[in-house]
Amino acid sequence: MSRKTKRMYGTHESTDEIIDGVVYRTCRFCGQTKPLHEFSRNGYNDDGSQAYRHDCKVCYNVRRKENKAKKSHSDFIGSMKRRGEPNVAYTHQEWKEAVIFFGGECCYCGRTMRKGERLTRDHLEPVSIGGCSTQDNIVPACSSCNSSKGASEWREWYMKQPFFSQERMNKIFKWRSIIRQLAGGTSHEP
Ligand SMILES: [Zn+2]
Ligand SMILES: [Zn+2]
Repeated sequence: MSRKTKRMYGTHESTDEIIDGVVYRTCRFCGQTKPLHEFSRNGYNDDGSQAYRHDCKVCYNVRRKENKAKKSHSDFIGSMKRRGEPNVAYTHQEWKEAVIFFGGECCYCGRTMRKGERLTRDHLEPVSIGGCSTQDNIVPACSSCNSSKGASEWREWYMKQPFFSQERMNKIFKWRSIIRQLAGGTSHEP
């Protein structure tokens, strides 16, 4: 990455100051002034001294997480296109709303994700039987529920599971009806 592009991000000017022999840097993103060790190392300066990033570790990690999340969303859209859905309008924002609505849990088993684990975008009506990638048809599910459900009709599959919960099922119905009302569409669901 060139020096120029590095300077294009962030909204704060990254400045350094030395107080009592300690270098303090202002983070380009949060604008907070922190000691240099709270910034990640980033190669070496032209004079051979250790270089550090201009965004603090906290901001860097937040952004890295966000970038990863965006990438998994575009991977999902890409896979839907390959499966024959050419115009997927489903947005990353819509996915985030779904995750928030279900409290970050798998909408079926209610499990929260362990470190390194990710919620998957599960189609309530499977794509193989004509389900679309629209907000009312995509729910967050753990990968084990997602793969166990496969191409089954979701209610039928769900009611047979040991972790079945009427409350969580109602929440799924509620999600669909909220989204459909917002979309102003007609509901085909009971
Ligand atoms: Zn920061
Ligand atoms: Zn699950």
